[in-house]
Amino acid sequence: MPSPLENQVRAALDAVKDPATAKGLVASGRVAGLVVRADGKVGFVIETGVGAADEPLRKAAEDAAARVPGVTAVTAVLTADATTGARTVPATGPAAKPATLPQPAQPPASAVTRPARAIVAVASAKGGVGKSTVAVNLAIAAARSGLRVGLLDADVFGPSLPTMLGTVGQRPEVKNKRMQPVMAHGLATMSIGYLVDPDQAVVWRGPMVMSAVNQLISDTDWGDLDILFIDTPPGTGEVQLTLVQKLPLDGAVIVSTPQEVALADVRRGVGMFRKTQVPVLGVIENMAWFEQPDGSRAYIFGQGGAERTAAEQKVPFLGALPILSALREGGDTGVPAATGTSSAAEAFRLLASAINEALAAAPNKAAPKIVFE
Ligand code: ADP
Repeated sequence: MPSPLENQVRAALDAVKDPATAKGLVASGRVAGLVVRADGKVGFVIETGVGAADEPLRKAAEDAAARVPGVTAVTAVLTADATTGARTVPATGPAAKPATLPQPAQPPASAVTRPARAIVAVASAKGGVGKSTVAVNLAIAAARSGLRVGLLDADVFGPSLPTMLGTVGQRPEVKNKRMQPVMAHGLATMSIGYLVDPDQAVVWRGPMVMSAVNQLISDTDWGDLDILFIDTPPGTGEVQLTLVQKLPLDGAVIVSTPQEVALADVRRGVGMFRKTQVPVLGVIENMAWFEQPDGSRAYIFGQGGAERTAAEQKVPFLGALPILSALREGGDTGVPAATGTSSAAEAFRLLASAINEALAAAPNKAAPKIVFE
């Protein structure tokens, strides 16, 4: 049952006329993925065949929804219907900026263009296991080995890369109608967090997520990258499945913690990538142990489970990372541990090298071997 607020928002959107059919936006089927949360946050997609030319319509719809009493924020995104391939940028609500993002000179084909010789997803079946920490540090380790590396924060539900990279508040420059990545620690980075208020991002649903992630990849001038790491949203639901199906991935790395319950998640994660024919390059076990003051290891969450699960699922085990205060501090201060010379930096160097080997062995021949020095 839709809530009374949702009904009111629907009515307000339907009062906005679709210029193409002269019917209301809802009646004409132009509104998709409407989310109306109890706290008054609203998100929806307006399907368009004409791209940015529909920007006034998007704005009118956003304003109409914002005027409904009880609505606190509105995020409306223009997205192409499958037949036209035209796309536009994620449009954002009042607190978000910039209001307009660049349009590509030519509307890109519906498939995402390849921004790098190899594209690797860093994924986890649930949040809080250190996926973003691993993605950031792996990318830095790869860059330190001499590769040109990009890092895309596609975790629209909780974009944390700007905090971890020390780039909070930065906005991508626009040159020749393309967004320039924000450079940090030798990485070309892009995050939904640079473009929208993260509080608004949480109301996004499948079609909006895909549209926004496509845009972040296609409308960014990545330059000539050897490898692009993508920090994907945690979970194995519909949104994640669509993302991994549509992104041109050469492989995926699954991050897990050692508990039994987490291992069931690993199985689900491997299953999701298998379904979409994306090679699983391997599993990384994070927070594997805690080193006690006397040097002994405390296996707080159990021992060796991720390795056993990887073996059971016939995917490589890439390695384990301990609980290290350097990793948490690096994430909080915007100077990731992999930039330094600690044992964590060395661990990530080894992991990046293991990923290189796994990529070279992956069945997708489109990804040439990446040589880590
Ligand atoms: P996710 O992306 O899976 O949600 P994060 O990378 O944001 O997880 O990590 C969650 C928290 O745990 C962060 O505060 C991060 O600094 C911390 N963390 C992650 N891995 C480790 C580790 N190996 N040792 C210590 N802290 C860690």
